[in-house]
Amino acid sequence: MEIKKNYINGQWQAAHSGKTRDVINPANGEVIGKVTDSSAEDTRQAIAAAKAAFYDKGDWRRMSGPNRADMLYRIADAIKARVEELALLDCLDNGKPLREARADIEDAAACFRYYAGLIGKPQGGVYEVPDGFGPMHAYSMHEPVGVCGLITPWNYPMLMATWKLAPALAAGNCVVFKPSELTPLSSVALFEIFHEIGLPAGTANLVLGTGPDAGQTLADSHDVDMITFTGSTRTGQIIASAAVGNLKRVGLELGGKSPNIIFADADFEGAVEWAMIGVFFNQGQVCSAGSRILIEESLKDRFVARLAERANAMTIGKGLDDPDIGPIVSAGQLDKILGHIELAKQQGARLVCGGERYTEGNCAKGYFIRPTIFDNCTSDMAITSEEVFGPVVAVQTFRTEEEAIRMANDTPYGLAGGVFTNDGARALRVMKELRAGVTWINCYNPTFNEAPWGGYKMSGYGRDLGVNGLLEYQQVKQVSINLQPGPVGWYTR
Ligand code: NAD
Repeated sequence: MEIKKNYINGQWQAAHSGKTRDVINPANGEVIGKVTDSSAEDTRQAIAAAKAAFYDKGDWRRMSGPNRADMLYRIADAIKARVEELALLDCLDNGKPLREARADIEDAAACFRYYAGLIGKPQGGVYEVPDGFGPMHAYSMHEPVGVCGLITPWNYPMLMATWKLAPALAAGNCVVFKPSELTPLSSVALFEIFHEIGLPAGTANLVLGTGPDAGQTLADSHDVDMITFTGSTRTGQIIASAAVGNLKRVGLELGGKSPNIIFADADFEGAVEWAMIGVFFNQGQVCSAGSRILIEESLKDRFVARLAERANAMTIGKGLDDPDIGPIVSAGQLDKILGHIELAKQQGARLVCGGERYTEGNCAKGYFIRPTIFDNCTSDMAITSEEVFGPVVAVQTFRTEEEAIRMANDTPYGLAGGVFTNDGARALRVMKELRAGVTWINCYNPTFNEAPWGGYKMSGYGRDLGVNGLLEYQQVKQVSINLQPGPVGWYTR
C-alpha cells in the first residue's frame, strides 16, 4: 500500500522517523490507507519552508490578487473535475454518506471560487484626514499575515481544510496545514491538486501527524505568525495558550451545544425534518448540531413521537451505500458517545429511541450508532450541557419565550442556534437574544461560503467564510502621505 507523504517546499517527503499511521475505514474497521506520521522535526521543516517562501522568496505574496485568483479558480476547477474521487475518499475515511461527501466536495470547489472572486474585489479604503500638518491623504491596504498554521478536525475533512486554505492562500499567506490524523486522505489529494496547478514551492505545505506532535509544534512555533484551528474547545484552549509565546494571531472554531427552539405554532413536519437535519446529519458530528431541542411544552409529546418515528425509520449503513446514517468516525469516538448515552440514562433522562450500537447486516464490525433521542432532560444533566458529537439529542421543554431564551443561553458555548415559529416578530426577538454566532430561523444547519461562520463564548473567536473569513488572514496597513513635502514649522528651533 502506497504511503501518503508530507508535502514540503513542493516535494513529497516521508517523516524523518519513518513512522507511519494506518487510516481506518470506520464502516468495517479495515485499513484503507497508510500515511507518514510526522514529528516536531518534520513540522519545523515545513514551517521553515513556509517562512522562506513568504519572507525570502515572496513570490506568492507579491503576486497580484487577480493572479492569485487565477490559481484558486484552477484549484476549484480541478476539485470539480475530481468530485467523485474526492467524495469517495471522505466517504471511506470519515464514514459519511456518499451524497453528503459529494456535497462537501462541491462546496469546497465553490469555496475556492468564492475567495478567488473576493481577492479581486476592492481591498482597503481611502480616508479623508484633517490637514493640521498640511495637506495629507491616507489609505489602507490589506496584506497577508505571513506564515499561517492551519489545523482541522475529522468531521468534514475536505471542507474544513478548504474553509481555511482558500482564504489563507487568497490573502497571499504561506501555510502549513495539518489535517486530523483520523481523516488525512482527501487533504493529500487536495495537495496533489496544488502541485499539479503549480502553486509556488513552499506556499502550501502539508504535515500529516497527530495533535500533540505536529499540531502542538505549529502552535508553539515563533516562526508561525498565525494559527487557525477548528476542533474541540479543550484543544483550542491549549492552542491559545501556546500562541502567547510570540503573540501569534489566533482563530478558534470550537465546539458547541446548540439549542434548537421550537414553538408550538411552527410548521410541524418542517420542524421535525429540520430537527433531524440539525442533529443526525453527518451522524451528528457537526459542531453546530442542534443537540438540544427546546420545545414548547404543549407540542412536546406529539413532536417527540414523530421525531422518534422518523429516527427509527432512518437507514443505517456504510457511507458507500448512501444511507441516512453512516458510521461514527472511529472506535474511540463511538465509545465516547456510548459513554454519554449511559450517563444520560443514569442521570434520569428518558431514552425514547436508539441508545445503542448498531451491528445488523454488514455493520457488525463498523462503528455504528442508532439515532438517539432523550426526553425529560433537565439542565443539570450532562446530556444537556456536554458536547456529544454524535447522533444524540436531548429534549427539554419551556412554557414562555423568556424561558426558552434563558435555557438556550444557559451554556458555556455559543456556536449556533435555531428557532422555529410562524410568528415572524417572535423569531426576530428570540434571534436578537441568542448568544450564538451562527443562527437559523425555520431551518437548521444550511451553511454558505458567502456568510461568516464562528462562535461566541467558549465556541471560539474569529470567523471562517464570507468577507470576515478573508479579513482573518489579512493585516491592515495604514499609509499616510504628505501631499506637500517640505518643512511644516512644528519645531521652530
Ligand atoms: P480535536 O480538538 O481533538 O482535534 C482537532 C485537531 O487538532 C486535529 O487535527 C488534532 O490532531 C489537533 N490537535 C489535537 N491536540 C492538539 C494540540 N495539543 N495542539 C495542536 N493541535 C492539536 O477535535 P476533533 O475531535 O478532531 O473534532 C471534533 C471537535 O471539533 C468538536 O468539538 C467540534 O465541535 C469541533 N468542530 C468545530 C467546528 C466549528 O466550526 N466551530 C467545526 C468542526 C468541528
